[in-house]
Amino acid sequence: MRLKVLTAEILHETNTFNIHPTTIKSFEDRYLLDGELAIATRGDLNTELAGLLDVGGDYNWQIDHVISAAAGPGGTVTRDAFETLTAPLIAAAQGQWDGIFLMLHGAMVTDFCEDGEGEILARLRASAGANIPIAVTLDPHANVTPKMCDLAQILVSYTTYPHVDLRATGRRCAELLQRTMMGEINPVTLRAHRPMLEEANAGRTDLGPMIERHAMARACEARKGVYAISVNGAFPCADIAEVGPTVLVTCEGNTDANQSIAETLADDIWDRRFEELNTYLSCSEAANTAKAWKGGVGPLVIADYADNPGSGAYGDATNLLAALLDAGIKDACFGALIDPKAAALLNAQPVGSEVTLDIGGATAPQLGGPPLRLTGRVKWTGEGHVVGSGPMMDGLKRDFGQTAVLEVAGIEILIVSIAHQVLDLKQFESFGINPAEKSIIALKSMQHFRAAFAPLAGRIIVCDSGALCTLDYGSLNYKNVTRPIFPLD
Ligand SMILES: [Zn+2]
Repeated sequence: MRLKVLTAEILHETNTFNIHPTTIKSFEDRYLLDGELAIATRGDLNTELAGLLDVGGDYNWQIDHVISAAAGPGGTVTRDAFETLTAPLIAAAQGQWDGIFLMLHGAMVTDFCEDGEGEILARLRASAGANIPIAVTLDPHANVTPKMCDLAQILVSYTTYPHVDLRATGRRCAELLQRTMMGEINPVTLRAHRPMLEEANAGRTDLGPMIERHAMARACEARKGVYAISVNGAFPCADIAEVGPTVLVTCEGNTDANQSIAETLADDIWDRRFEELNTYLSCSEAANTAKAWKGGVGPLVIADYADNPGSGAYGDATNLLAALLDAGIKDACFGALIDPKAAALLNAQPVGSEVTLDIGGATAPQLGGPPLRLTGRVKWTGEGHVVGSGPMMDGLKRDFGQTAVLEVAGIEILIVSIAHQVLDLKQFESFGINPAEKSIIALKSMQHFRAAFAPLAGRIIVCDSGALCTLDYGSLNYKNVTRPIFPLD
């Protein structure tokens, strides 16, 4: 007899400081697919869905995939969007199933509830019954609540940042669901939490203490009755009571030994909270470094950490671009600047024409800088379709909406309508910009860019432009986080 498994993917990382609500349109802009289309377009790439299908295929599961939906990180999810996305799943859960598999982010906040995933799981439990196994994949930027752990037996996060192991995580999690459905194991997920906004390096795993933590986690997973250990760096731009890093141990039984694995790793996150790996330059320091850059070993990559749309920043901060222009930097590219108005205006001009217009700084000029009035030449216009080629996005589609490239004094500026952080070379290459041949690459991303850009970079530096995802947390006016909390107190 085939095991029947209900599956759904609903991803959102909510930046509660972002003033723009996340609506159903926001999901349509990223992806909002029915089950069949999701499997056809995302089912054999680096996605959790692909990993789930791999394992489901191995065991000949009968899978009903209800929905795949993700919006770019942004403001709180509206009740309307939440109900629209979850209703088909909750209704389907009333059927006869052997197990349920969800692909969630873990940091969703709605306009009526701080714990979006906890709310999804509560409704699902109410619909599907108390005993059915529920397995969940998470992004390690999840703010995992006790409620989530009470409602799902299995919770497994990616082990990498940049996130390159989505498919592998789907497989790990689905294998545990298989063993649970067969009655071979009876897992619970234990949680340890520390009062911090996030892990010292936002959970990055390419160097620093997270490497040791994951090595320890993998070693502990070899113990009898320990099935998966997740080390979550958390998402700090969420002004909610239960923000912060967590360690999850999916295991057999709520025992002291299992809980102590979680506590030991969580203690390490706390104890090493001052071990920052990045040096955060000001925009003028970054521009001076660019001015002194001799090249010859590959481009200097400058990441604007604070204006990362991948964390819900507006992506229209201008401070770094202004500093580069002031410093006379040439042979450079900059992107992506999120400015639908400017993109539309440029799309109305012929390629090759000279244009003067204001760009950026529209949403929160007091944070990342005011609009810049620039004169430049239009180099590319059109629809911003991208098919990725790098470790994170290979074969996956992203759409920037209406897009233009404006060259100003030797800097090619990518201007787009739909927010995405830059984490794949194709996000420049698709629009006639060859980042590998530039002297300077300035981009809006915190860490994910490293997956594709580190191999070609001569050097990488990181700056804090003061935009919404600034490291200066004291400027953000947190009201709901549980005090005291590091580093605010
Ligand atoms: Zn993440």
